[in-house]
Amino acid sequence: MNINVGIGFDTHKLKKSGDLIIGGVIINNDYSLEGDSDGDVLIHAIIDSLLGAAGLGDIGHYFNKNNHPKSSLKMLKKTNDLLINNNFVVNNIDSTVVCEQFSIKEYSQEMKNEISLILCIKPNQINIKGKSTDGLGFLGEMKGIAALAISSLLKDN
Ligand SMILES: [Zn+2]
Repeated sequence: MNINVGIGFDTHKLKKSGDLIIGGVIINNDYSLEGDSDGDVLIHAIIDSLLGAAGLGDIGHYFNKNNHPKSSLKMLKKTNDLLINNNFVVNNIDSTVVCEQFSIKEYSQEMKNEISLILCIKPNQINIKGKSTDGLGFLGEMKGIAALAISSLLKDN
């Protein structure tokens, strides 16, 4: 059994309208994230970490401006299909969401439930942490939200 690991990072600009969706969950907030999709920064970072671990390139290779679903969870589903087709099984995912607006803790269990459902794994195989930047930089000034993720995959061969 081989173990492969991959990292992912993403950031999106905040705007003052619409639904803020992170980890597939709607966050009670005055802001939303800009993007061609729903701007789900955590799901995008997780997708990149999964693709990275599988050696399958990056999110931009599979989803470009004219060709991707609005829902990032649908993008995650397509990513999981790619993993299955290449004989990979998700072992675990760890992640950090960097934002000043709200406490990730309140929403992390719901996010884990959403993500694990799509990846056909248990919620406890996913970890989601929140972090602020103490008011520093574009994240601290609430101009955007960033997310980091690391995944490990198992492959039989
Ligand atoms: Zn993104």
